[in-house]
Amino acid sequence: MQKDRVFPELAVLRETFDRGITRDLLWRRSQLLALERFLIEREREIAAAVYDDFRKSTAETFLTETGYLRGEIRVALKCLASWMKTRRVSIPLIYQPSKGYYFREPYGVVLIIGAWNYPLNLCLAPLISAIAAGNCAVVKPSEHAPHSSAVITDGLASYLDRSAIRVIEGGVEESRALLEERFDYLFFTGSRSVGREVMLAAARHLTPLTLELGGKCPCIVEESGNLKVAARRIVWAKFLNGGQTCLAPDYVLVHEKRETELLRYMREAVTAFYGDDPRLSRDYPRIVNIDQFMRLEKFLDDSAIWSGGKSDPAECYIAPTILRDVNPRSRIMQSEIFGPLLPVIAYSKLDQALDIIRAGKEPLALYLFSSDPKVQQRVVRHSRSGGVCINDFLFQAAIHGLPFGGLGLSGFGRYHGKAGFETFSFQRSVLHRSFLPDPDLRYPPYNSVKFGLLKRLVTLFTA
Ligand code: NAD
Repeated sequence: MQKDRVFPELAVLRETFDRGITRDLLWRRSQLLALERFLIEREREIAAAVYDDFRKSTAETFLTETGYLRGEIRVALKCLASWMKTRRVSIPLIYQPSKGYYFREPYGVVLIIGAWNYPLNLCLAPLISAIAAGNCAVVKPSEHAPHSSAVITDGLASYLDRSAIRVIEGGVEESRALLEERFDYLFFTGSRSVGREVMLAAARHLTPLTLELGGKCPCIVEESGNLKVAARRIVWAKFLNGGQTCLAPDYVLVHEKRETELLRYMREAVTAFYGDDPRLSRDYPRIVNIDQFMRLEKFLDDSAIWSGGKSDPAECYIAPTILRDVNPRSRIMQSEIFGPLLPVIAYSKLDQALDIIRAGKEPLALYLFSSDPKVQQRVVRHSRSGGVCINDFLFQAAIHGLPFGGLGLSGFGRYHGKAGFETFSFQRSVLHRSFLPDPDLRYPPYNSVKFGLLKRLVTLFTA
């Protein structure tokens, strides 16, 4: 561990925060507008960087990175004044005359550690919330998307207030060294194992934190509903970003009566989206690096491949692959896949499907395709997950008004829109009292008459 790595920039941020600059509404707005300008003016450069990291198409980068972030900024600009409003509370009679209110205060200097799979989104969406809430921030992008990390570093340095916002690039060493420092809030996106380390580091300084982790997101395809649409949406959501999406359907549980039809429609959808040879498609990304490629390729050995299955280490290419007759106890079902391999498991009773989901602990998201409201209600009631999307995928995370985050093993804390503003701020309560009246009743010594009277007043007039 780089114990003696020092970060002189942290003292600068601390001083800026202590001077109160970032609390100002105008400063917050100016930084959000500057971030928006960066996303618009550097759109091409950003798309090229993401392409260089894992051959993601320009359209996908707009939809899942810059387009989403611009929406998040617009929402913050529109709602910020209202989010920052002071809220008055009514004061019980016994405490009168008084005035009580609370407002949301920034934590201070916060650290945002991002994952590589949506390299801009996972660093800048929390940053938007952190700025909106009035914090100074250090952003640590992932080393596994080096081109994106470079574009973030250059962009933020050129567009934002350097006395309040800094990017520190690097890998595990830098990240660990940063976690040795005392921050006022930690926001981490990444794997469970690293999440545990981050939480231990937070405990050392008693720093509050959010963990946005992964997991196996299940998708149930029930008896009712439009199977062709379900198949197209499953294929789109699973193979977007080459399957390297925390919210992608990890596996599909399909009612046995509809399995064959679903598999056929899914194979057709893969060909319709990516052609006969997806390697040639401009819209099909690569696995981020050879380590991840090797981890995924091993799953191909012991699975019944329904479609796809081709791979090429030279390009870190794995074709969109659908696996059938997968045993829920098989190796591929034991951990998050995080790649373009989709196991399909047939079930006969909904309870069986729900049992498989429960055995996998709390996923980040749960998906259900069914047009039966009773089934929809039952699945939501008898399962647990960070979020749910019925009859589609991923959009629960695209809608700025829906708080986004995990549960249990998929993390804790929420962001996006107002939820992000709230995550990066705390409620500070203020009570104004007057000097008078100042009755003896509240002060010791408490004899039985005084205590009796106090008891009556407290029980009758404090609600
Ligand atoms: P990762 O945990 O390896 O790395 C995440 C970040 O932590 C990187 O910036 C990395 O430099 C840093 N890091 C790595 N090891 C560290 C250590 N020992 N101490 C401190 N910092 C360390 O994750 P990844 O491979 O970048 O991302 C993939 C994982 O992230 C998947 O599990 C995926 O599901 C999850 N994810 C979750 C969300 C979400 O919103 N919940 C979004 C994207 C990805």
